[in-house]
Order: sequence, then C-alpha cells, then structure tokens
Amino acid sequence: MYINGNWATAADTEFEIFNPATGAVIQSLPDGGAEAARAAIDAAASAFKTWRATTPYQRAEFLMRAHALMLERQEELAKVMTAEQGKPLRAAMTEVKYASDFLQWFAEEGKRVYGEIIPSARADQRFYVLHQPVGVVAAITPWNYPISMITRKLGPALAAGCTVVLKPAEATPLTAVETFKIFEDAGFPPGVVNLVTGADPKPIGEEFTTNPKVAKLTFTGSTAVGKMLAGKAAANMKRVSCELGGHAPFIVLKDADPVHAAKGLQLVKFLNTGQACISPNRIFVHREVLESFLETFADRVGGMKAGNGMEQGVTIGPLVNEAAVAKVENQVKDAVAKGAEVLCGGQRLIEGDLGQGHFFAPTVLNNVTPDMLIYREETFGPVAAVVPFDDDDDVLAMANDTHYGLAAYVYSQNLTQAMRLFEGLEFGIIGINDINPASAAAPFGGQKDSGLGREGSREGLQEYLETKVGGFSI
Ligand code: ADP
Repeated sequence: MYINGNWATAADTEFEIFNPATGAVIQSLPDGGAEAARAAIDAAASAFKTWRATTPYQRAEFLMRAHALMLERQEELAKVMTAEQGKPLRAAMTEVKYASDFLQWFAEEGKRVYGEIIPSARADQRFYVLHQPVGVVAAITPWNYPISMITRKLGPALAAGCTVVLKPAEATPLTAVETFKIFEDAGFPPGVVNLVTGADPKPIGEEFTTNPKVAKLTFTGSTAVGKMLAGKAAANMKRVSCELGGHAPFIVLKDADPVHAAKGLQLVKFLNTGQACISPNRIFVHREVLESFLETFADRVGGMKAGNGMEQGVTIGPLVNEAAVAKVENQVKDAVAKGAEVLCGGQRLIEGDLGQGHFFAPTVLNNVTPDMLIYREETFGPVAAVVPFDDDDDVLAMANDTHYGLAAYVYSQNLTQAMRLFEGLEFGIIGINDINPASAAAPFGGQKDSGLGREGSREGLQEYLETKVGGFSI
C-alpha cells in the first residue's frame, strides 16, 4: 500500500496473489481494509489543498515523467502483468503502451480546461463559467486490464487537479504496485496518489462510498457491483462514473467481406481470453455469407495456442480463476444441450502443464439461439457464439435486445446500411469494419446497464470537473 508518500512495510495480515497459468503463489501484499482506506482518503484530502492550486502545466510535467517511466519499464510491467493476470506477454506489452497513452493525452488536455463567458439579458451582468477539480477521487479497478484501467482514471483525475485513492482488484494488485512506484519516481507530492490493497473489497468500497471527504467514485467492473456502489455513492451525493459489463453484438451483413470480418473477429474475440467488457458476445452472421465466414473463423481459432503467457508462441492465456472456467463451461453445455453446434474447442484444457492453470479451449459455437444462456449472459471467456440470420432489416432489433449497451461491431461494405446501424444501435462504442474503436482520445463508455459517464477524450476529463458559474454585476 502507498499512503501519503509511504509504502506500508509490515502488515498484520497479508493476502496472496496467484499466477492463473500455474496456480503458484507469486507474492503477498498487505491486506488493507476500512482503516487503510480512511488514512489514504485523509492523505488525499490534505494533498488536494495544494495539488488543486498547481497549474495544468505543472501537473502535465508530473504526468509526462510518469508516461516516460512507464514506457521505459514497459517490459518489466508487462512481465508482472502476465504473471498475475495471464495474458500473453505481447498483449501485456500492448496494454502498458495503451496505459501510458492516457498519461500523455490527459497531461496535454489538462491545459485545455476552458471556461466560458455567457451574455446576459441584463446589460449590467456577465456570466463567467469556470471548471474546477471535484476533489478526492476514489477509484476501483478490475483485474482484466490491470494497468490501463488505472491510468484511464488517474490520468484525467490528476490532470484535472484531483487527488486519488485507488483500490485495484484483489487478483491483480502487483501491476498497481509497480504503477505506483512510477508515480513515486515521477515525483508526485505525498498524498496526491494513494494505493490501498486488500483481499476483501467490501470494507474499502464501504469507506469509499460513505466517507464525506470523497467527492467522486469511479468504478470499472461488473454491473452488479457497479449498481450497488453507485447506489451507495449517490445516497451520499458523490459524483459517480461506472464502466460495467457488456454483451457486444458483432454483426456481419450480407454485403460484408466475410473473410475480413472473420479475421477481425478472431483477433478481438479472443483478446485477453475473451475477458473484456467489449468482447463480442453474440455474433450475428447473414446466412448468405455464413459458410465462408465460418470456414475462415474456425480455421483461425483452431490454430490458436493456449498456455502460459510467458512462453513463446502462446496466443491465448488462462482464465482468471476456476469460477470463470466453470461459468464458461456451463454456458457451453447449456448451448449444446439446446442445439448449438461446436465447430472447435468446447472443453477445458487439462493436458500436461495446462492442468495446473485455468484453461478453456478457444471455442466456436454455431446455431446459437435466444433461449441459450450465452445469448443473454456475459461470457467473459473464449467462446464465440454465432447466430445466423436471414434478413439485414431484422438484425438491429436482435442486437439491441439486451440490457447491456457497451460495444457493438458492424461489418458491411454498404455505407447506408452501416450508418443505419451505427445510428440505431443502443451502444456507446461502435466499430464499423473495425475491431478497436478505443483510444485515449475517444470517449469510452456504455448505455443502459453498461454504465454511467465516459472515460478517455475531453468527456473523460469533464468527469473530474465541477462547473461553477459567476454572475458578475458591473
Ligand atoms: P469482476 O467480475 O470483473 O471481478 P467485480 O465487479 O467483482 O468484477 O470487480 C471489479 C472491482 O470491484 C474489483 O476491484 C473488486 O475488488 C471490486 N469489488 C467487488 N465487490 C466490491 C464491493 N462490494 N465493494 C467495493 N468493491 C468491490
């Protein structure tokens, strides 16, 4: 834990962090609770008094130093991430780069928090609008993207002039520790950034949502936990941003290039072993292009190599834990029992060393129907569920038939059709013939049960700012 510029050394209790590919214990960390969270919030509240008064140019210098250090330590950070989270080292390297982008982008954007002067109906009056930092930010991040979810929150918060307390996921706190070493080495003053680790998130979450010194809660994780925390924070009138679960449709229209779509799907579906909130969960493919789509797709998926992400040639890592494997297995069994066809994979991987980790074979299911669990429930695993359809006009309603609204993907060569779907889809992030509609510069976030607010982009900075108006009579 890192509180008020000090690392906790000996703790009464510690908790263990496991490698999901081998089952081995990597390290132990202090098991913090409400008391640690309170101390960190006190430190952040005290540091806010001076941090808020720094200029955006000064704050940008700290952020740019952290950005440079993150890139210098890219490989070290990636190795820690692969050990505790499981993704292949190359993917971990990519994530560190993506994480560093948020530090750089918001360092720059912090200089552009412009106000406004509004004309009044009264000749003697002027309205001045000013944006100021909200205050102490409590941040909770998930295990699937252990570093980029930290900087996507802390980059804009710090650039805006807020101070922060972070609670990373209990499965992946080691990457957070390495990230905070970077903040320390970049010279952030004591109390501006604070880290609280713990095995049980509940007492920390309780403190975050009830402590009067916390002005804002930013959360990324499951919809159930997000709703619960947002409810508690709202009862105490704290600002809230939530990035929650998804159930992304991936739509391949009749006029799409099915081979291009299949190649794109293979890349995006199995990223992070399917453990991403923007992972395609229902793959709607027009029957006229189904055969060539499935041929390319199943062939590519069948060629993937599961294993320990530290090993050369491994293209897909383990799932995070046994519960994640059991959930995926249950969805596959349910789908098969209700008539889905397994084109590849379909079972746990237990041969040799894989038996020690949490592995499930990259899987393609065809003929998935709305009565199957996988059609409704977020999978968060390496299973692609293909739903053939017959009429392009029907697919919009099918895609919107979910309480989630995070990401969607559309493949079409027809501009009119693509635009119709882009406008009609009830989702916040849409890839049109594109599998990566995310960047530090673009707003990321969901509609419906997928969340509140946006991260990244100008909008991501506004989430950490209050608006103040001054009516001046002259
Ligand atoms: P996932 O299914 O991705 O693990 P969670 O919502 O359980 O999603 O976890 C995301 C983050 O939320 C993690 O940092 C986790 O520790 C935290 N979390 C889970 N339950 C609570 C809670 N009751 N209070 C505060 N944080 C929580």
